[in-house]
Amino acid sequence: MADARAGRAGGAASALVAAFARIPTINGHTHVIPEADRLKRDLDALSYFAHPYCAADLQSAGMDDETLRFVTGDQGTLDAPVIRQPLAPLAERWARFEPWWHRVRHTGFSQCLVEGWRAAYGVSGLDASTVGQISDAIRAGRRPGHYAEVLKGMANIRISLMQMGGPFGEPIDDIDATLFVPVPRLNRLTMLRSRDDLTDLEREYGEEVDSVEALAARMAERCATWKAKGLPEVKLSQSYHRAMDFGEPDHDAARTIFEGLRAGRYDGLDSPAGKVLEDVLVFHAVRSATAAGLPLQFHVGPRAGTYGTLEGTSLAPMARLVRAHRDARFDISHSGFPYFTEAAVLAKTCANVFLNLSWMHIYSPEGSVRALREWLRMVPVNKVIGFGDDLYWVDTILGHLVMARQNVAEALAGMMADGLVGENEAMAIGRALFHDNPAALYGYD
Ligand SMILES: [Zn+2]
Repeated sequence: MADARAGRAGGAASALVAAFARIPTINGHTHVIPEADRLKRDLDALSYFAHPYCAADLQSAGMDDETLRFVTGDQGTLDAPVIRQPLAPLAERWARFEPWWHRVRHTGFSQCLVEGWRAAYGVSGLDASTVGQISDAIRAGRRPGHYAEVLKGMANIRISLMQMGGPFGEPIDDIDATLFVPVPRLNRLTMLRSRDDLTDLEREYGEEVDSVEALAARMAERCATWKAKGLPEVKLSQSYHRAMDFGEPDHDAARTIFEGLRAGRYDGLDSPAGKVLEDVLVFHAVRSATAAGLPLQFHVGPRAGTYGTLEGTSLAPMARLVRAHRDARFDISHSGFPYFTEAAVLAKTCANVFLNLSWMHIYSPEGSVRALREWLRMVPVNKVIGFGDDLYWVDTILGHLVMARQNVAEALAGMMADGLVGENEAMAIGRALFHDNPAALYGYD
């Protein structure tokens, strides 16, 4: 695939890909599992297909759950692995997988695996003749220090922003600070599903949280602490349950709803009252992060998994929030895909909106190239964050970065062919996307 693409885009693209590999990349978004956890797992090539992205492609192709479990086992699922039953021999699992591989092998998620294995282990393609070789290489990588070898040595990644995946999205202390910096979430303080959610918070604080203002004070306190610890931004994930249509905050109504929630009268987050309360809590989250000097990452794009709605994918409904907080910085994770152009209008016209391509180079490789062609002639170049892997397995991060470099190079080689930029300018744009822009946004200057 790499050769085919380089051939199509020509020598200019190949030269750019090689040049981009020398840029220390700031990886704006990772979910890679802690190395200590990875060391407990016996992964092989087929267990990687349990990753939610690849699994969703297979399920969308029609694979049933039993086949998915037979092929992938239980080592590649996000939960801590529990060996329920020994895996069938690899050849048997491959035989059952192969017809499905022909259906999904051309998606960006599949290509990402193949590119990662090629770059990390030097094995090209996944088929009956390579599945064992790749699996052996993956097993050989199950050793302390492999993360640093891949992320620093092979991928030339300066730092990766680790999205905290625990139940409350709080930062964890035992991540390797030479490779990762945590990105905490304010989800728990802005999305109250029930009285129990509030009770959990109160238990943790050891005191009552008796008003919206008290909750807002907690957010401010947390953001200040996170900033003092050197964390780069905070994250909100509202789009997994709603559209991004944050209304004018009605503080009085939110106080009344909060009182009702405390008294056990609350219809839940997805009720009209839940929306009024959440809109006000998001307002406070934006104020708190901004007062602390932290950007806010909003997931605006497709939902992982299957049967997600497109409700939270559009950035346009967020315009009110963006206009109301001009001193905030909105890091738009996934750039509002599939509405890339719509998101670019806001990035073009609002100084506080940044387009973040995390996940998108593999979600839609062609869409990312098209978007870059459009954005680079529409949006100031400092507004684009070029890469975030959004993945669990370390060698697939390398595969994703290889694809991102190809996509950026292809867009820029096209501009070079059209006489719009020269080679030096194209290199400078690549450096901005992969390093300088995220460095400025996340405080790594
Ligand atoms: Zn993510």
